Amino acid sequence: MDKTAFPPQGLYYDGAVQRATSGKTFQTVDPATASALASVDIASSSDIDHAVVSAQRAFSSWSKTPIPARARILLKAVEILRLRNDEIARIETLDTGKAFSETSTVDVITGADVLEYYAGLISGGGLNGETTQLREDAWVYTKKAPLGVCAGIGAWNYPIQIALWKSAPCLAAGNTMVYKPSEFTPLHGLVLAQIYTEAGLPPGVFNVVHGAGDVGAHLTTHPGIAKVSFTGQVATGKKVAGSAAGSMKYVTMELGGKSPLIVLPDADLESAVDGAMLANFFSTGQVCTNGTRVFVPATLKSDFESLLLSKMKYIRAGPTMDANTNYGPLSSATHYEKVVNYIRHGIEQDRATLLYGGPDPPASLDSSVRNGYWVAPTVFTDCTDNMKIVQEEIFGPVMSILTYDTVDEAVRRANDTPLGLAAGVFTRDINLAHRIIDRLDAGITWINSWGESPAEMPVGGWKMSGLGVENGRRGIEAWVRNKSTLVDMGGKIATVFTKL
Ligand code: NDP
Repeated sequence: MDKTAFPPQGLYYDGAVQRATSGKTFQTVDPATASALASVDIASSSDIDHAVVSAQRAFSSWSKTPIPARARILLKAVEILRLRNDEIARIETLDTGKAFSETSTVDVITGADVLEYYAGLISGGGLNGETTQLREDAWVYTKKAPLGVCAGIGAWNYPIQIALWKSAPCLAAGNTMVYKPSEFTPLHGLVLAQIYTEAGLPPGVFNVVHGAGDVGAHLTTHPGIAKVSFTGQVATGKKVAGSAAGSMKYVTMELGGKSPLIVLPDADLESAVDGAMLANFFSTGQVCTNGTRVFVPATLKSDFESLLLSKMKYIRAGPTMDANTNYGPLSSATHYEKVVNYIRHGIEQDRATLLYGGPDPPASLDSSVRNGYWVAPTVFTDCTDNMKIVQEEIFGPVMSILTYDTVDEAVRRANDTPLGLAAGVFTRDINLAHRIIDRLDAGITWINSWGESPAEMPVGGWKMSGLGVENGRRGIEAWVRNKSTLVDMGGKIATVFTKL
C-alpha cells in the first residue's frame, strides 16, 4: 500500500466497521491525479436494514439521555475533530481534490463549529418547549420531541462538513442517524463514525452506509426512517422529496443554485472583484451558493474586467497538498465532463465572449498532476440572460458577467430564475444594500461579502433551491416534532352533553 492509499472501507453500524454482504465494491479516486485511493463496500438492502435496526435500538436510550450528557459527548467529538484537523483535511483533499490550504482551514473546522454550536444550544435550553396560560386553572405546554431514526444523504463537495451539519443537530436533538456519503467522496464517513464512537457516542447512534443513488433511494422509502435530510442537485432532490412523501417523512432539502451577485455603481471595485472571484473560484467553483451571475453596471464593465484579469494570476493550480495551491481539480471524471461541456457550449452555442480560461487545464499546471480532472478558471462576458451557461447550475469555476443599466433592471433579472439559494450586493450605500437584499428572492444573502456561512447563520434555499434550513437556532427545529398538551385543573369537563 503506498502512502496515499487507504484500506478497504466498510460500512458502520452497531458501533463498529462492518463488511457489506453484497460482495460489491466501488473505487474512490484522487481527482488531482486520477489514481485509486480505496475500495469501498456497497451496502446491500439487508445491510441498510441492519444499519436502520441498529439506529432504532440506539434511539430508545439516546433520546432519553439527559441533555448535559449528550452535549458532553458531542463536545468531546469536537475536541477530537480539532486535534485531528490536518489528518482529516488531508483525507478530504485526496478524496475531493480540494487544496489542503482550503480543507485544513475550512472543511473540518466549519463542521466542528456546528457540532459545538448545537452542543451549546441544547445545553442552554435550545430544546425547551413553551407554556401558555389559558385561564387561571388551565394551560398548554408544548414539548419538542426527537423524530426517531433520520437519514442523511450527502453531496460530494463538502463531505465532512455536510456530514457534521446534518448529524450535529440530529444527534443533539436526541435522534439517531444513518448517513450515506456521496460515492465520489466516501472516505470521511468511517472517520467521523469512529470519532463519534471514541467520543462516547453509544453504538447505533451514528451509522454509515456506502453506495450510489440506489442506496440513498432505499433510505428514502425505508419504513424505519422518520426524516431525510438531503444535500444535492435539484433533480435528485425532487425524487428524494417525492419518495419520502410516500410515507410522510420529514424532509430538509439543500439543493442547487444559480445565484446573482450584483455590483452596484458606487461599489468598492477592488472588494467587488475579490468577492466575485471568491464566489466563482473558491473550491474550484464547486460551492452551492456560488454567485455565478455577476451583474455589473455597463459603465463599470471595462474597469471591472481589467481589475479581474489582473487578479486571475493569483489563482494557483498545483499539487493539492502544496501550501501555495489554492485551486484544485474538479471532483470526478463525470463532473469534469459536465463542466467542460458547459464551457464548450458557452463558446460554441451561447457565443458568449471568453475573457479568461476555457475547457483546457490551467496552463501552468505541474506535470505531476496532469492526469487529474483539471479545468482552468473561466470567465465569460457579454453574457445574456437566455444563455444556457447563465441559466443552469454548472457547479464549476465558470463566471458569467452580465451588464445592466438600472438597479431595478438588475434586481428583476437577478430574480428571473426558478432557483433561489443565495444572492448578494456590493455597494458603499448601506441603506440601498438593505433595500435591494429585501427584494432578492433567495434564502442566503450577503452584503459586501460572499460565502461565509457560520454555525449561527440559518441557511437554506428559496424556490427550487430547497426546503427548510440548516444551522443556527432555527436549524434545530428541523429535527424535532412538537407535542402540545392542554391541562385543565378545574375538575369539571365543560361538556355540551348535559341534561336539559
Ligand atoms: P446529487 O444530487 O447527484 O447527489 C447527492 C446525493 O444523493 C449523493 O449521495 C447521491 O448518491 C445521492 N442520490 C442520487 N440519487 C438518489 C436517489 N434517487 N435517492 C436518494 N439519494 C440519491 O448531487 P451532487 O453530489 O452532484 O452534489 C452537487 C449538488 O449539490 C449541486 O447541485 C449543489 O448545488 C448541491 N449542494 C447544495 C448545498 C446546499 O446547502 N444547498 C450544499 C452542497 C451542494 P451518489 O452520488 O453516491 O450517486
